Parts: sequence; C-alpha cells; structure tokens
Amino acid sequence: MIMKEKRSLVIETAKEIGKTVKLLGWVDSVRDHGKVVFFDLRDRTGLVQLIGDDKLKTLNCEDVVEIIGLVKKRPEGLINPNLATGKVEVEVKKLTLLSKSRDLPLPINTDGREIEEKVRLKYRYLDLRRARMAQNIRLRSALVQFIRNWLIEKEEFVEIETPILTKTTPEGARDFLVPSRLQPGNFYALPQSPQQYKQLLMVAGFERYFQIARCFRDEDARSDRAYGEFTQLDLEMSFVVQNDILELIEKMFTAMIKKIFPRKKFTQLPWPRISHQEVVKKYQTDKPDLRKNKENKDELAFAWIVDFPLFAAQSKEEFFHGSGKAAFAPSHHMFTSPKAEDISLLDKDPLKVKSLQHDLVLNGYEVGGGSIRINDPKVQEKIFELIGFSKRQKNQFAHLLEAFAYGVPPHGGIAPGIDRLLMAILGEQSVREVMAFPCATSGKIAVMEAPSRASKEQLLELGIR
Ligand code: ASP
Repeated sequence: MIMKEKRSLVIETAKEIGKTVKLLGWVDSVRDHGKVVFFDLRDRTGLVQLIGDDKLKTLNCEDVVEIIGLVKKRPEGLINPNLATGKVEVEVKKLTLLSKSRDLPLPINTDGREIEEKVRLKYRYLDLRRARMAQNIRLRSALVQFIRNWLIEKEEFVEIETPILTKTTPEGARDFLVPSRLQPGNFYALPQSPQQYKQLLMVAGFERYFQIARCFRDEDARSDRAYGEFTQLDLEMSFVVQNDILELIEKMFTAMIKKIFPRKKFTQLPWPRISHQEVVKKYQTDKPDLRKNKENKDELAFAWIVDFPLFAAQSKEEFFHGSGKAAFAPSHHMFTSPKAEDISLLDKDPLKVKSLQHDLVLNGYEVGGGSIRINDPKVQEKIFELIGFSKRQKNQFAHLLEAFAYGVPPHGGIAPGIDRLLMAILGEQSVREVMAFPCATSGKIAVMEAPSRASKEQLLELGIR
C-alpha cells in the first residue's frame, strides 16, 4: 500500500487514483444506501465523494473528520461532470471523528438569500461556509491583492497606515467618538476617511500613497452602505492632473476585472466621461445605470462623472454635523479644488463654480469619488468661509493650513469603496454579502454582541458618568 503521510487536499484526489490518502475536512452531506453509505467531504478546495460501510451512518453533516482512504476511479456511468473530483471517489479505510457538529440552525447548502439576515449574521461562521459566501470572500481577497501588487509593483505607490484614533474628519457624516483616558473630557473620533492624513503625506513628499483603509461613519445602513464601517482603496498622488487619476484607476480596474472576473463584459471601453450637468439632465441622477442589458449580470458599465459644481445647497444634516451656517455645502468635501478658471466666481456666484471632483459609477452605484485638492491656503480659507465655518471650526484645520505653508505639491486622489465595488461587480444585492462580519442594520455586530455595556469601573476611569 502506497500511503501518503501528508494530508491531501480534496482537489488533489482527482490526480491520486490508486493511492491511499489522508483527507481532512467537513462532512457535507450523507446519503444512506443501506449497506453502503456515501458522503461528500468538503475542505477549502472543494468536494469529493466518499464511500464506506454502515459505520458512516453515525456521521452528521458538518462533523469534522480525518479519513484514510483509497482513491478509485468511478465507474463510467457514475462520473459527475459538475465536480472537479467527479471522476473519482474515495473508499474509506479509516475514519476518525475530530469534532462533532450539532444540528445546524440554518441551512448552508443553499444560496442563503432566503434566510433571515439576522440569523445569518448571528451564525456568520456557518453562513460563510456557504459556497457563494466563501467564494465572495475569496474574490475579495484576490481583488485587494491585485490592487496592492499593481500599485506597488507597477506604479511605485507606498502603502501607509494612518491612525484610527484621530480627530474628526468632515466628510459630512456623524462621527464615532472614543473617550480618552489620559485626557479626561476629550474624545478621539474614528476617521470617516484618511483624507487629511493622505494630504499631509503629500506634504511629506511620498508623492504616491495608498491604503486599504477602514472608514467609520455613523450613518443608517442601506443596501449599498453597511452600518458603521466600510473599506476604501484610499489613494493620493502629487504632481498630477485629474486625467492621471482617472487613467490610473481605469487601467488598474480593467486589468483586475479581466484577471479575477474573466466572465464579465464591459459595456464600454474606455469608460465614458460625462459632465455632471449632462448626466443629471439625461438620467435625472448622477449615478446612472448605463448597462445596455440590465438583465445581464455579467455586464459592467463603468463611467466617470466630472465637472461637478463645487457647492450644493446645504442640507439640515450637514448644517448640524459641522458645515456651519452658510447656504453652501461642499458637493464632495471641503478640500476639493475649484477649477482654476472659476476661482474668481467664488466671490460673485459660488453656486456657479465648477470643481475638479470625479465620481466613479458602476451599474448605477457610486463606487468611488475623489478630486484634485486645494493647495493654496488662501483658497482653502475662502472655502471655509463660504461653507460658514466658525472661528472654532476653522481652527480644527489649522494643522492642515500650517502644513501647506511649508511647500505643498499640487495633489489629488480618489477612494473607491471596496465593498460597494465588489458588490456591483458580482451583482450582489447588499454590501453585507461581500463582508465577512458586517454590522446588522440595527448596528449590532455579526456574531459578537456588540455594542455592549461598559462596567462602572471602565466608565470611572474614563471620567464618564
Ligand atoms: N476622502 C474621500 C471620501 O472618502 C475620497 C477622496 O476625496 O479621495 O469620499
């Protein structure tokens, strides 16, 4: 008997006919045919059929087992063409039960969409065994890996982490606050994005920065926005014009999709660039779904939206969350540069000023936004005024204006949302389908019972009553 000492992966059994192998994994399904019992064994590489005597009857779905077995060719008529290991089966010689599974609280051999989300999130570690979810999470890893390699190897970017415990960044949403123990009465804010840090990194001379960045915003969940936190590909470049940013992203994402999602077809290449005015006039939205055939889930319609107005009329929410008292709110954020030829309009007619903002749209979702930034402290101060910042609010950005006084390169960037991008590429209905442990819409974190109460001692230490 030729016996491999090492574990074989399920996928390898296809090439191990005649060998005795050791397999490890989960029992996927048991089929009792009286004297013979079949079951599928699952590991991270797939499924293989096992066959044995009635001792296997004691197995439950999702038990974890170690098998010593002989890999055999299946009889012609019993080949399963849908399985990578469909030409073989493994005759069980020895079975060791490593861990028993209880009856499952939810089915995992379905696509899962029929199950209440609350249940799926409570048992996320089971939900992620589901083939569709396991695949989504693996594709996410491949997507992020592609981006990292591309930016570092091809484009000379530097990956830099920025603080999570920081000061409020005004991206127009509500902040999460964290009380400080060392400075009682003071609070950190979790970053809504690394916007100010990445601009400071341009002042620092890195020229090309990126980060797979976690962003925190206390906004109600929607299908295309998870509650609490999400992930961006955050990037920033110095000495560029807007076109450089658009071309970099377009080239990288096109290559990424061809490699990782080869079945997908682009509606249009290169991606169309549409002015904000035109898109709103034509589609009554600034994130149109430009697919030719909306039923085709392999069609991807990317587009750039450009020439945004610098300001929009201010909403109540923005007023409350820091934009102040004026009638103007930044359409993107307050660091976005006006077009050079419109700067004189800032005094006369602010709502007519066009900006160097760019939004990336895919199949009706906004999957990224960015801009060329203001690098003239005087223009920045003017914008602060127009959005109605009080002296105190202006002071919150003193560090940025000071940094800009020491030689700031022209710079700009973008931040595509990883969750939303992947959701749109896959045609999933919610960003939570591409996140391992998302928050429920109620703000409760998958599996863990968070948020939870703090103890009296913890509060006392923080100086909170
Ligand atoms: N910080 C911006 C955002 O989160 C993106 C950018 O302007 O680069 O939307």
